[in-house]
Amino acid sequence: MSVSENETLIELKNINKWFGGFHALKDISLTVNKGERIVLCGPSGSGKSTLIRCINHLEAIKDGTITVAGKEMANDAKSIDSIRREVGMVFQSFNLFPHLKIIDNCSLALRRVKGMQRDEAEVIARKYLDRVHILEQADKYPAQLSGGQQQRVAIARALCMEPKVMLFDEPTSALDPEMVKEVLDTMIGLAQDGMTMICVTHEMGFARKVANRVLFMADGQVLEEAAPDEFFSAPKHERAKAFLGEIL
Ligand code: ADP
Ligand code: MG
Repeated sequence: MSVSENETLIELKNINKWFGGFHALKDISLTVNKGERIVLCGPSGSGKSTLIRCINHLEAIKDGTITVAGKEMANDAKSIDSIRREVGMVFQSFNLFPHLKIIDNCSLALRRVKGMQRDEAEVIARKYLDRVHILEQADKYPAQLSGGQQQRVAIARALCMEPKVMLFDEPTSALDPEMVKEVLDTMIGLAQDGMTMICVTHEMGFARKVANRVLFMADGQVLEEAAPDEFFSAPKHERAKAFLGEIL
């Protein structure tokens, strides 16, 4: 899995985010190059979701700059839209449309956002459903699928937009244990294909296998950043040691 050192896909500079009087992200800077697989971990409430939600403007920041694929985020709909096209996001709750078949869940944005005809959109949707090994479920409704299958559909749906980077926010934490592996295997496959990804996850086996960098957050700050082997065998910060002590 290669990383292109000189192609920056995401650049966060001095990001600050407040919820009312609460300082949720404290002066965070982060550069992500093409092909990187970043695992973001840390205790609940540390700001992991907020950080990745800022990258596609699901949260607005107070100050700092966010640049994605060379485009700097401004506060207008056009800028936000053009950045969102480059960024795929997968949440803990799969958020599929319950009244739409799997194929339509995947092809909807291609038709609505990219203006494709149904036939053309379905070809792409089938390609990515096949990629997550779930093409045979294309004509079912979400409720007819298991949680793991639904999450793979959510990944396929994001891939249909052909994003430059994928953001995952605890994609396996709502799943029954026996379904975790199929979703992690899908993510491993994406990483092997060179997808740039930021994954909020506590699946440390995944982190060891896939990540080139682990970032540890607490209290709205990135306290530690290291290669996975280094982070897991010799965490430096007291908070990171305590965190690993609890989850491993
Ligand atoms: P994590 O994903 O690491 O568990 P979050 O990014 O969800 O943490 O939250 C970071 C902090 O910001 C938490 O203290 C949380 O309560 C607070 N927070 C998150 N979203 C909101 C919101 N919409 N309004 C107020 N506070 C929020
Ligand atoms: Mg979270």
